[in-house]
Amino acid sequence: MSQINENVIRDVVNDVLGQLGDAPAAKSDGCGCKSSSPRNPGKRGVFATAGQAAQAAAGAFEQLKQAGFAGREKVVQIVKTLCADNAVAWGHIELEETKIGLIDHKIAKLTGIPGIPGTEWITPVGMSGDNGITMEEFTPFGVIGAITPVTHSIPTIAANVINMVAAGNTIVFNAHPGGARCAAMAVDAFNEAIESELGIANIVTIVEQPTLESFNDICADENIALLCVTGGPGVVAAAMQSGKRAICAGPGNPPVVIAESARLDKAAADVLFGGGFDANLLCIGEKQVFVVDKVYREFMAALEAAGGVKLNPQQLKRLTSDAFTFTKDAGGCSHPAVNRELVGADCVTLAKRCGAKAPEGTEMLFAETDEDHLFVIEEQMMPVLPIVRVKDFDEAVAKAKVSEHGYKHSSMIHTLNVEEMTAMAQAMDSTLFVKNGSCLTGLGSGGEGYGSFSVATTTGEGITTPMTFTRKRRCVMVDNLNIFG
Ligand code: NAD
Repeated sequence: MSQINENVIRDVVNDVLGQLGDAPAAKSDGCGCKSSSPRNPGKRGVFATAGQAAQAAAGAFEQLKQAGFAGREKVVQIVKTLCADNAVAWGHIELEETKIGLIDHKIAKLTGIPGIPGTEWITPVGMSGDNGITMEEFTPFGVIGAITPVTHSIPTIAANVINMVAAGNTIVFNAHPGGARCAAMAVDAFNEAIESELGIANIVTIVEQPTLESFNDICADENIALLCVTGGPGVVAAAMQSGKRAICAGPGNPPVVIAESARLDKAAADVLFGGGFDANLLCIGEKQVFVVDKVYREFMAALEAAGGVKLNPQQLKRLTSDAFTFTKDAGGCSHPAVNRELVGADCVTLAKRCGAKAPEGTEMLFAETDEDHLFVIEEQMMPVLPIVRVKDFDEAVAKAKVSEHGYKHSSMIHTLNVEEMTAMAQAMDSTLFVKNGSCLTGLGSGGEGYGSFSVATTTGEGITTPMTFTRKRRCVMVDNLNIFG
């Protein structure tokens, strides 16, 4: 990063965003597709309506079939290479548009894209015996409608493309409006390279200005066979009511338990690193910590020693009233909501707002709270960790479970006691459960395994891979086919 000229990057960002946002409307080619001629860059695969995108992606699906596994593999490699090669510029472009998170981590998410599983995951199952042979093949659905979050706009799109196209599908994206321009830019870049390598346009498509209406159009479009939703509770509920099959990577509020035998210095460093990553925008990120009484003081000291900045009760109170708002429902009941202005803000900014001081580069603010505090119960997506002191391990797990709201998303434990690990794993029943590591180890970064930006918690498919986006089909041949006989 030190060799990168920030001014050059800023110029690139401004150029690209200017081109995307201020360019004159693209000429239609008659099917609603914006021209992909070199005179009008920035619009390949970008459509005004969901219907037009779905129709184009349906045409591309037929062509992708002809290109076979070799064609899918080329698309996967193109997306991986483009993300790795453009990680710095695209990271800046995404941050410039969304205004949430931290630049180094925006870049790291893109440099990690080559680790996303591709075509090698599609493996047929063969059976052979006295009655003949049977093959089970994992085949595409067709066109997938994919909804992506503002927290990782380009990375989610890239990882979805790799998984979904590896499985033979084509895609229509409805990005979050707050990250739609950088999403369209990436879709254009993917299409430019795919078209030049495979001669197929619109394997990846996107609605230029995503709205609730375009979401509803995707849900209703007969060209779209499957939905994949990555986002919060509202969009998950809407997708599941749509009548189309939906793979839902829903919200999380991951708790951490610090037990008596935990290696406290490592646990503190892990919690700050995981929770502080991209200013706590990750759905898997550590959001609240339950510490057993016996090691509470020592753990708080370890957090400070690891670089966390402790807020006093007055500062916490000020930040809480800034970070949450209340709205009344029809029945007059008051409900808290996260103040979107503070989501993904950095520690220095948050500290200033509550009269605290945090040096540049601080990963996390933290404060002692009770288990009912708003920072505990709301998925705050801010680098502010509430630390709850509990009597013992059983109380820690019970309170951790309540704080997770039954999302069954992610949870973490720090302990050297295997029985405690098992007890918490059973109680939480979460899709991701990490023992003695940061949340990031759960997605292959510092732990074993692969990554994904869509962890299908709500519908149970788990950390998505190409196999998630396949239909299982069986082919049977009955005859005297036994070559050993
Ligand atoms: P969000 O729910 O506000 O938006 C997600 C997407 O859904 C966006 O494209 C948005 O435009 C759309 N959307 C929102 N409400 C909708 C509705 N009622 N109908 C139709 N579309 C709607 O979430 P966000 O702020 O972009 O992202 C953060 C949320 O996503 C957090 O809750 C986080 O836990 C979750 N998330 C989950 C995963 C996962 O893998 N499980 C990954 C990333 C983010």
